[in-house]
Amino acid sequence: MLPDPIKKFADVFSKLPGIGPRQALRLAFYLSSEERALMQEISFATDSMSRVKICSLCFYPHTNTDKLCAICESPARLKNIIAIVEKATDLMSLEKTKRFKGHYLVLGDLGKSGVMETEQKLRLETLKNYISKELGGKAEEIILAINPTAYGDLNASMLQKELAPHTNKLTRLGRGIPTGGEIEFADEETLSAAILGRI
Ligand SMILES: [Zn+2]
Repeated sequence: MLPDPIKKFADVFSKLPGIGPRQALRLAFYLSSEERALMQEISFATDSMSRVKICSLCFYPHTNTDKLCAICESPARLKNIIAIVEKATDLMSLEKTKRFKGHYLVLGDLGKSGVMETEQKLRLETLKNYISKELGGKAEEIILAINPTAYGDLNASMLQKELAPHTNKLTRLGRGIPTGGEIEFADEETLSAAILGRI
């Protein structure tokens, strides 16, 4: 009853975060009734995603020929100040404020348990290795740019314990982002204030 390509499309798209099986199916039906041009565009767009690499230092996606992203490569950025963010979109929000001149580590979405996944542990190890090899054992400052939600606080205190031996100063974004709010949705002005007024 369900044409195979539609089923296949829905199966694949329901694997994406925020898209359930019903929504995926709706998308598939929508596309089947649309012009071919749109399907072509989607096909090209997903295809070109295969050129995207993940920076071996901060784990932000990039398309450089090098292993590192533009931020990690830039001599203008301060190496010994590192902001830890959960999502690539959080990094983008902080970059938009133009108030932060350090480096980043994109950790990936932290869960509700205050325990990191294997991939996140590996990323944190990458940072610790970098600090010991390139920064003489201690960073100047590590900023936990974690959402001020209840889970964010739990995760921040877990990260604090992990990172305290590796930095002179450990801060969090200052007030301004409402409690329970998310970095991704904070406006530029609020986020600028939060990064300048870190605590
Ligand atoms: Zn990078």
